[in-house]
Amino acid sequence: MAEFVGAVDQGTTSTRFMVFDHEGGEVARHQLEHTQILPRPGWVEHDPVEIWERTNSVMQTALRTGDLTPADLAAIGITNQRETTVVWDPRTGRPYYNAIVWQDTRTDSIAAALERAGHGEVIRRKAGLPPATYFSGGKIQWILENVQGVRQAAEQGHALFGNTDCWVLWNLTGGPAGGVHATDVTNASRTMLMLMNLQTLDWDDELLALFDVPRRMLPVINPSSHPEAFGAARSSRPLQAAIPITGVLGDQQAATVGQVCFAPGEAKNTYGTGNFLVLNTGTEPVRSQHGLLTTVAYQFAGAPAVYALEGSIAVTGSAVQWLRDQLKIITSADESERLAGTVQDSGGIYFVPAFSGLFAPHWRSDARGAIVGLARYHTGGHLARATLEAICYQSRDVVEAMERDCGVHLDVLKVDGGVTANDLCMQIQADVLGVPVSRPVIAETTALGAAYAAGLATGFWRDTDELRSHWQESKRWQPRWSPEQRAAGVAGWQKAIARTLDWVPVP
Ligand code: ADP
Repeated sequence: MAEFVGAVDQGTTSTRFMVFDHEGGEVARHQLEHTQILPRPGWVEHDPVEIWERTNSVMQTALRTGDLTPADLAAIGITNQRETTVVWDPRTGRPYYNAIVWQDTRTDSIAAALERAGHGEVIRRKAGLPPATYFSGGKIQWILENVQGVRQAAEQGHALFGNTDCWVLWNLTGGPAGGVHATDVTNASRTMLMLMNLQTLDWDDELLALFDVPRRMLPVINPSSHPEAFGAARSSRPLQAAIPITGVLGDQQAATVGQVCFAPGEAKNTYGTGNFLVLNTGTEPVRSQHGLLTTVAYQFAGAPAVYALEGSIAVTGSAVQWLRDQLKIITSADESERLAGTVQDSGGIYFVPAFSGLFAPHWRSDARGAIVGLARYHTGGHLARATLEAICYQSRDVVEAMERDCGVHLDVLKVDGGVTANDLCMQIQADVLGVPVSRPVIAETTALGAAYAAGLATGFWRDTDELRSHWQESKRWQPRWSPEQRAAGVAGWQKAIARTLDWVPVP
């Protein structure tokens, strides 16, 4: 009997494979980074072939180190960096161009032109998203317009689009020899091409026309958890046996499932390269009036889609990387805690890491980063502390937008991701929010969520109540600031945000 479920987590910096048991406990894992290709300022690419090779390697090594065989896996789930765009030739399996990563800003003129032409409203209404460089639609359009021969190939059915879930799935299920070209509702909801309403979760002809994307290059959209829709893994070297692939979810939605946010009003905040706060809003999409995205949280087979409001913040943990790699005032990310701990507070300085503009809730591509309030007195300690505070103030802005949009008041914020290893940062988060912050025992919520989606589809797990019973708190931080201290801190942050706006011209 297969005792375990596997999950491929194809992330922005690395790809990992994890294996979980019936209690959601980790049995095996392996992880490999891939190259970040930065051809010009603002451009970020990945090599899809390298990603597929890494996927194979991590599966093979994780199984070997866990002393497992493919027959031990009841099912596999896939989760992925969302929006990152791959276009490839199904006859050969060769990509036409590198993957254009979600952080890439080369499509700023495409997004600005849509807004100028008055199409922003229909994109917001139908897709739940503002026109922005972040999403896949503009990236597909860029490849069609700039890579020779691709538009013609797409019209003839010789070019397929997918996010990296889709690319990995197609390769795992046979590649040129019958690979399955499918994605799930959560990934599709990040393209600006999918119509999101209660009746239809499918590609929308009006949106496709705005981006001039041929429908035949797009994958089939399935529920996130389904016993048959995604085929079986058979072409990967370590997987000689056919293992059903029964779960696919974008990474932030997977973390939402991994954190068992199954009821309306439940939310999680993931602190990685960027921050992503996702609030379950139930089976009807809520339109944000305050700069949040409307997105699909998950859809389990035979059930209606569950929607979410999402606050995406581009730069949080990567600001800590900037202290390490560019300023070199720390040598590792965890040293930020020690350095920030050398001072009692930030000494009145604020650091707004708007390196490529501001995402939620501001959506200002004309903003750039700033450190304000500096005096001769300030040290690296103050800057490190201001960096941690910036992570927390940005999250607070998003929580506030959520409260305004749907009147939900969080009793507790569930957190996960690399930065949550930083106790000081999590304490500041509780202080800035005035709400307790709680981290679960199983920190790998993204891979776990993909495994949950896969295991629910095959009956490995009975229902969401069983999954809920796995969730356990490892640590909780209580707010310590007085309301006056919080109000003063937030007022300073808002002034600092105002200083970053209108800095670079919008194309
Ligand atoms: P991703 O999935 O986006 O690659 P992870 O969840 O692996 O992200 O987290 C990595 C990020 O967390 C990096 O940006 C790193 O700078 C940051 N990070 C890791 N450990 C710490 C720490 N102890 N304190 C602050 N930031 C940290």
